Formats: sequence, structure tokens, C-alpha cells
Amino acid sequence: MSPEHEAVYQAALQFARRALEPVAEAMDRDDAWPRSVWDEAASLGYMGAGLPEPYGGSGGDLLTSALIARALSHASPAFALSYGAHLNLCAHAIWHNGSEGQRTRYLPPLARGTVIGALALTEPDAGSDATGIQTVAHPDGGGYCLTGSKTFITNAPVADLWVVYAKTAPEAGRHGISAFIVERDWPGVSTSPPFAKLGMRGSPTGAVFFDDVHIPRDNLLGEENRGLQLMMGGLDRERAFYALSGVGIAEEALERALAHAQLRRQFGQRLVEFELVAAKLADMYVQTRAAHLMALDALAQLGAGRRASREAAAALLAAGQAARFAADEAIQIFGGSGFLTGSVVERLYRDAKLFDIGAGTKEIRRLILARELSGMR
Ligand SMILES: Cc1cc2nc3c(=O)[nH]c(=O)nc-3n(C[C@H](O)[C@H](O)[C@H](O)COP(=O)(O)OP(=O)(O)OC[C@H]3O[C@@H](n4cnc5c(N)ncnc54)[C@H](O)[C@@H]3O)c2cc1C
Repeated sequence: MSPEHEAVYQAALQFARRALEPVAEAMDRDDAWPRSVWDEAASLGYMGAGLPEPYGGSGGDLLTSALIARALSHASPAFALSYGAHLNLCAHAIWHNGSEGQRTRYLPPLARGTVIGALALTEPDAGSDATGIQTVAHPDGGGYCLTGSKTFITNAPVADLWVVYAKTAPEAGRHGISAFIVERDWPGVSTSPPFAKLGMRGSPTGAVFFDDVHIPRDNLLGEENRGLQLMMGGLDRERAFYALSGVGIAEEALERALAHAQLRRQFGQRLVEFELVAAKLADMYVQTRAAHLMALDALAQLGAGRRASREAAAALLAAGQAARFAADEAIQIFGGSGFLTGSVVERLYRDAKLFDIGAGTKEIRRLILARELSGMR
């Protein structure tokens, strides 16, 4: 990390502590997305991180944006999840793959945070088997006609814009997929109410429905039937990005557990003086630090323009394990008070579980790693 990266991270952490942490419990309790905090984050340039200034961005690189998400994750992993869907899954995808016209039209409002972005890949019958999607886009009067539905889409209930994957040549299977930029206001687009969830409450998740939606040809993202490459490149960036958000959860759990262990006394001494407790803190540190370094490695590879499927899958696998382990051990160190609804470590424990599922489940990440290690791509 350069001094500039460190400075961005520290500033984002201050913002997260000041503006986000005070609303994090209410976000979770009421499952409420905090628009005012979103707008304030946007005013600081966070919604344009990693995007060039001529397109309204605030500069920096993929690591810059992932560090902001890591800082946000300390206060509210749910907010960081929505931030990542908007910035990494939608805006960065348009930046990487879009035409000049698409970049000019869509990136400035995304970078200002006035237009909210999302990525719609998962379908009711195509989750892990992402290339098995059934949403289709048929050629139609100089554009396409989009029909199908997507589910589990982060930000769907509040989003204005989606990057959507659909089959343009269903007979070609995974080689017949294309990506599109789809606007909420177009006839035939609708969304479900937010889904109720175990964790990541306050990050609205929902379904998106496309009922004979006309897509202008200009909104094809990348080349027709080359969506697989976009999808795989996007998933690598997504895994590396969210690995640092998982690290943010693990760091927060460790910090809170350590502070509690230094204060709380039993049997006439502080918890941290019991070797069984100290060992937990040491193991939390090792897993957190290892995941942190693996995430930085994956982000550095991607930042240098190199393929990093192996590094990104490994980093997210490690970060998911670290987040879950650290949150679990933090509850243990807090004892009964950690088990209470409203305790921060209890919320982190529920939020951490998503990092086993989103961006390809932990099983799928292991399959990717096995394929990469054995050269069977
Ligand atoms: C809160 C949340 C936010 C999300 N946000 C988005 C989003 O913004 N955009 C988006 O497109 N999607 C999003 N998703 C969807 C997410 O990517 C999928 O849930 C995930 O890919 C798993 O798909 P599935 O739920 O259909 O589970 P399934 O694919 O049905 O898997 C169920 C179980 O079977 C296992 N399994 C499946 N295939 C194999 C195999 N070959 N070998 C071994 N085990 C296997 C899985 O690992 C898992 O344990 C989100 C999900 C959640 C919960």
C-alpha cells in the first residue's frame, strides 16, 4: 500500500466511524438503507473511486476503492456490500468494458451517487451455475428484447441502473452470453420489495423482472456473445474487492474482542491474561492478517493488468473464513453479552456469513482454485 492508499483508508475509516457507525445498529434492526449517509459518502468522492476524473471519478485505482469498502465494513458491512455492488459490480464494469458513449453517459451520475448501480447475474435457477442463465435478449428492431428475471440482486430495490447478463445465442450455451446496461425507467423493468435476510440488513437485496424490455443497441456492453469474458473478469475483480470487506469485519471483531478482553475481569484478572483467551486473539490476528495480505496480493495483480483468478478466489475464501472465525471468537470472548441482539459482534457474525455465499460460494471458489492449480482451466 502506498502512502496515498493509507491516507484514503484512514480518512474513510474516520468517515465510517463518524457518519456510519451511529446508524449501523438501526440499519440492521429496521433493515433500512441510509440514503443520507450514501449521499455524504458520494460528496466525499467515494462513489467515483477507481474511476478517472474525466468521467466524474475521483481517481485512484481498484485498491483505493476496496480500501474504502474495508473501512466502511468496520462500521457497517451491509453499507460496504451496497457500495461494492454500485461501484465495483456496476460502475467499474462499465469503465472496463464500455464504449466511449456509455462511459460518458453513465459514469458521471454513478460517480456522483445520484444514480445507483447494481449487477444482475443470478437467477432463480442459475446461481453457482452462472452460465446456465435463462434470461434472453432477442434481436429486436435495431436493438434487443430482454425477457427473464434475476434474484438476490444487491441494491435492486433502490437501483436506477443494472449491468445485466442474458443469452443472445442460447444454442451456444456459455458462448452465447452478452452483457447490457439496463435502466430502471424503461417499460417492462420492475423490482421486488427487499428480501428479509439473516445479515447484511440495510443493504437492500431483491429480484429484478424484465418483461419484453426494449434495449437500444447502444446499450450492449462489450461485444455480442462475448459476455463470458466480461463475467469472469468481473468476478475476479469482485472477489478481490470484497475480500478486503471481509477483512474489515475480521479486523473489527478482533479490535472489539481485544478491547473487551483487556477490560473485563474474572477470577481477579483480566480476560486477556488467560492463555485460552489470548490464544483466540492470536489466532484471530493470524487469519485476519493472512487474508489481508492475500487480498492485497490479488488487488495488486489485477491493478497491474494481470489475470488473477487464483489469487482472487483464494483471497475471498480466506477472507470469508477469517471474518466468520473472528466474529465467532469475538462473541465467545464477550460471553453472554456478545450473544445479545444489538451487540456489534453479533451483527458482524451474521453479516460475515454472506462472505461464504456471495461472489461464488466457498465451494465454487475451491473448485476454481483446484482447476487453476491443476492447470485444468
Ligand atoms: C445478500 C446477497 C447478495 C447478493 N448479491 C448479488 C448481486 O448483487 N448480483 C448477483 O448477480 N447475485 C447476487 N447474489 C447471489 C449469489 O451470488 C448467489 O447466491 C451465489 O452465487 C449462490 O447461488 P445460489 O444461491 O443459487 O446457490 P446454489 O448455486 O443453489 O448453491 C447451493 C449450494 O450448493 C453448492 N454447490 C452448487 N454447485 C456446486 C458444485 N458444482 N460443487 C459443489 N457444491 C456446489 C453451493 O456451494 C451451495 O453451498 C447475492 C446473494 C446474497 C445472499
